[in-house]
Amino acid sequence: MSSTAPTTDSNLAVQVEALEIKATTTTATPRNHYHYQHHLLRKYSSGEDEVEEVEDDNEEPRSLRRSPVTHGPSPAVDHSHGLARLLKNNLLWSKAIRERQPDFFDRGSKGQQPEVFWIGCSDSRVPENEVLQLAPGEVFTHRNIANVVISTDLNCLSVLQYAVDVLKVKHVIVCGHYGCGGVAAALSDQSFGLIDHWLANIKDVKRQHDSNIDSIQDQEERCRALVEINCRNSVLTVAKSPIMKAAWARGQVIDVVGMVYDIQTGFLSELGYHVSNEKDLKTHLSVHSDALFAARKNTQL
Ligand SMILES: [Zn+2]
Repeated sequence: MSSTAPTTDSNLAVQVEALEIKATTTTATPRNHYHYQHHLLRKYSSGEDEVEEVEDDNEEPRSLRRSPVTHGPSPAVDHSHGLARLLKNNLLWSKAIRERQPDFFDRGSKGQQPEVFWIGCSDSRVPENEVLQLAPGEVFTHRNIANVVISTDLNCLSVLQYAVDVLKVKHVIVCGHYGCGGVAAALSDQSFGLIDHWLANIKDVKRQHDSNIDSIQDQEERCRALVEINCRNSVLTVAKSPIMKAAWARGQVIDVVGMVYDIQTGFLSELGYHVSNEKDLKTHLSVHSDALFAARKNTQL
């Protein structure tokens, strides 16, 4: 099989078949053994709880998929490369979806109509498609360290504008998460180099609530509080943007919602920061820090 073969259904089928033959006729060694992600297969299935299992071995095809367009001087990823597992996962994932929904990728190639725009943390433990159980095409995404939204971030605002003006999403979810390393770093007095410039945005948010956050004795709880307040600040910054104001002014139905994900339980919860129009925004902006923390205390009782 050529490493520079064009991407077609027929050579995909040949590669998948070769992988399957090797996987079912050889014995895996513990060192390089792996199991395919069963949940990905189930996720796109039509309800049946079928489990497919493939094992790795040292006799995989010598080269895996490689785009002819990006063919460069470096050798192709073969079975001994650390990334080979990912390419094999992808082959099987694609095949599994095609088997269950033959037109899935054809439909996707015609365009996207996601109803949700997700602004989350870059943390690998908070993958939006997994957490929301949405398929490719169902959630538009922007992620950065600690889900910070500031009014001068052209990257984030460009994605927001596309989501609101072009895709016409119905919900903007800003999702923080407990155990956020970015928020914990912002709470500390340590310097972390270049990233200090980014974390300064979170420190600014904390400064507005210093007395209430500093009065929390438990370090972990203090961090959880700042995760929530940082999320609130991002929700309000999105809602205050000219993009959202213009959308509401022209009658577009779209809300901005703050959520928090708990990496210890997998649960996603609403934080009570829900802005559907300019009136909601004014109400949220009028809430004083003491009232916010009093409400937070009450919900914990
Ligand atoms: Zn984080």
